[in-house]
Amino acid sequence: MKCKTVNSKLIFYLEKELLKDEMVLVENHLSTCNRCSEHLALLKNAMGVIDKEKMQAVNPYFLSKTLNRWKEEQEESSSPVFTRVVMPALLGLVFLMAIGSGIFMGANFAKDSENLQQSNVIDPYFNEIDSETIELFFLNDGYHE
Ligand SMILES: [Zn+2]
Repeated sequence: MKCKTVNSKLIFYLEKELLKDEMVLVENHLSTCNRCSEHLALLKNAMGVIDKEKMQAVNPYFLSKTLNRWKEEQEESSSPVFTRVVMPALLGLVFLMAIGSGIFMGANFAKDSENLQQSNVIDPYFNEIDSETIELFFLNDGYHE
């Protein structure tokens, strides 16, 4: 097996998604080729990092744990008012804004799709009311004078 072929299969080798024969071929090549086994080590490392990041992203418990730990550290240390009071408040604000903008965007999106669906039904109705009010306005105005 060529190095190029092995390299293209390394990720599948790590995920154990190769056929048995291919697994053996890659394994054999890795045991004889330093370059490819180095490549495998790098790939393994990179995938480990990605997995860790994934875990942190989907685990809110991790986030609250980290925030709590950070808070405790802040409370233990006798740091100036800014880092002890203002920073946590700012962090909380940023956190709320992140959540709020998520909800806002979600609501906006829902409104948009609703509007798209209903605009054809509602628009003629509103247009009618609008022109009637304007007509009545002019009529009433005329009556008063
Ligand atoms: Zn090789």
